[in-house]
Amino acid sequence: MRHIRSTRRDFIGGALALAASNAVAPGGLAGERTILNDASRLDPTPVAKHWRVQTDDGDDFIASLRSELAEAAAAKRPVAVGVARHSMGGQSLPRDGTAITLSGRVLQPDVAARTYLVSAGARWADVIRTLDPLGFSPAVMQSNNDFGVGSTYCVNAHGWPVPYGPFGSTVRSLRMMLADGSIVECSRSKNSELFSLSMGGYGLFGIILDLELDIRPTCSSPPSWRS
Ligand SMILES: Cc1cc2nc3c(=O)[nH]c(=O)nc-3n(C[C@H](O)[C@H](O)[C@H](O)COP(=O)(O)OP(=O)(O)OC[C@H]3O[C@@H](n4cnc5c(N)ncnc54)[C@H](O)[C@@H]3O)c2cc1C
Repeated sequence: MRHIRSTRRDFIGGALALAASNAVAPGGLAGERTILNDASRLDPTPVAKHWRVQTDDGDDFIASLRSELAEAAAAKRPVAVGVARHSMGGQSLPRDGTAITLSGRVLQPDVAARTYLVSAGARWADVIRTLDPLGFSPAVMQSNNDFGVGSTYCVNAHGWPVPYGPFGSTVRSLRMMLADGSIVECSRSKNSELFSLSMGGYGLFGIILDLELDIRPTCSSPPSWRS
């Protein structure tokens, strides 16, 4: 695995490669464009390509994702990832670019360690469906169960159990593909700057592949809001 130098300039460089929203589409695509929208239906946006993929397809997925990033970079197209596309500011709609829609699943609950590994494209409904029969719940999730788990990290949503803090506080580690196709592991002790930049970073720093998250027993009571 390649490791990145942890400088803010490197991160911004990667971000620009991923999210250069003013990139111009090749003229020949005009008649063939797909129109994507967000949940508001107020933001129809033409994209050059829309790729739907499962994040947990293993090596094939990784190879295909690298290839999509290389193709987009060669064509000077922006790339943006989305899951449910509920963000209503155009963050997941790359005009004239490559839109990637992820789906996924819970990969590995570890009840003893009180964690689970989950694909970034999984939705909260997938998480509950897997953890509930084991007597566990996500430590923090969003109010809507159709939102993507990776999306929740990328906006660092507060989630509904407010006393437990923002969602990011329940993320132990993650893997992310950078604009050059390399994969990095991030946590509070490894590539920590990238970890904090990508938490609420709108996906500008890389594509989240999977995350290791905290779980709690379903029967546990939330802490008092006043304590
Ligand atoms: C700054 C910000 C803060 C928000 N805070 C809250 C909040 O506290 N509570 C709340 O309920 N809602 C919040 N929202 C709304 C939030 O977008 C949705 O609640 C929810 O997270 C959307 O889920 P989704 O699957 O539709 O995400 P999408 O709209 O599909 O994606 C959300 C963002 O994450 C990026 N993204 C998604 N998956 C990946 C990935 N695997 N790799 C890289 N980037 C990815 C997208 O490009 C986009 O920028 C916030 C939105 C924004 C922009």
